[in-house]
Amino acid sequence: MLTPLTAHYDAARLRAAVRGSKDANQTRRLLILAAIHGDATRTQAVAIGGVTVQIVRDWVIKLNAHGPTGLIELFRTFGAGNACTWFANLGEGWLTTGSSILDAILALVPTELSVRQILTEADQITIRSDPREASALCPLCKRRSHSIHSRYSRTLADLSWQGRAVAIVVAVRRFRCREDHCERKVFVQRIWPVMAAYARRSRRLAGIQRHIGIALGGAAGGRLACRLALPVSGDTLLRLVRRGAPVQPPSTSPAVIGIDDFAWKPGQRYGTVICDLERRRIIDLLPDRQPATVEA
Ligand SMILES: [Zn+2]
Repeated sequence: MLTPLTAHYDAARLRAAVRGSKDANQTRRLLILAAIHGDATRTQAVAIGGVTVQIVRDWVIKLNAHGPTGLIELFRTFGAGNACTWFANLGEGWLTTGSSILDAILALVPTELSVRQILTEADQITIRSDPREASALCPLCKRRSHSIHSRYSRTLADLSWQGRAVAIVVAVRRFRCREDHCERKVFVQRIWPVMAAYARRSRRLAGIQRHIGIALGGAAGGRLACRLALPVSGDTLLRLVRRGAPVQPPSTSPAVIGIDDFAWKPGQRYGTVICDLERRRIIDLLPDRQPATVEA
């Protein structure tokens, strides 16, 4: 069945949105949807755009849900040294990277996730993301696999931003285990610091809600949590309290590290910083920059 285009966006409004678009993909998508709104059939539009009917259907759903903003892949990549420009329409006009507001917002997203898109609505913010790590360890044989089997979406509730509930949608990967003798042929990538297996909330949200439950109990805690845009039922709060403190993630040694020097006092005293480049975390700060200290 065809998903109907929204009545709010006729061909003229879609073309008007094209004129204000700064994103090439958004422009192309808007033009194809405008053609469908005009006299082209979906099959013709699909032929023009070189895409599948399923993709056009996804665009229609995104347009209906979020307007033209939904058609932008806001953050294609999120990594140091990448020259691409990111745009976000957060209701206060267009923000690009280098903008302190956007950088501040990106810093709020767990570093294990690479942000693809941020959609803002009146009462909710949805962050679409991918795990940053491109490989995973088989839980059975502990061998690292780079062979992706498939992906599926997990939606996690996260800490609120300025009174708006936040949902993080993670495109979790399933990997194939290539070890001949391993019984686990396919396994799901774990993103330990962000979420537990099967959890529907991020670890950091579960931690805050657990503390609310300890302080206020189920019913009162649930009311306060809703007021803080961290909605949760009283029963779930009590379950989080009973479950106890979260288990610490297993520590894995970093595969790629970076070493650089930094100034304690410019021109006088320098130290060494060691970073885990995959997880984008500082591992250690050394008091000087002598090779002997690094080797130790
Ligand atoms: Zn295995």
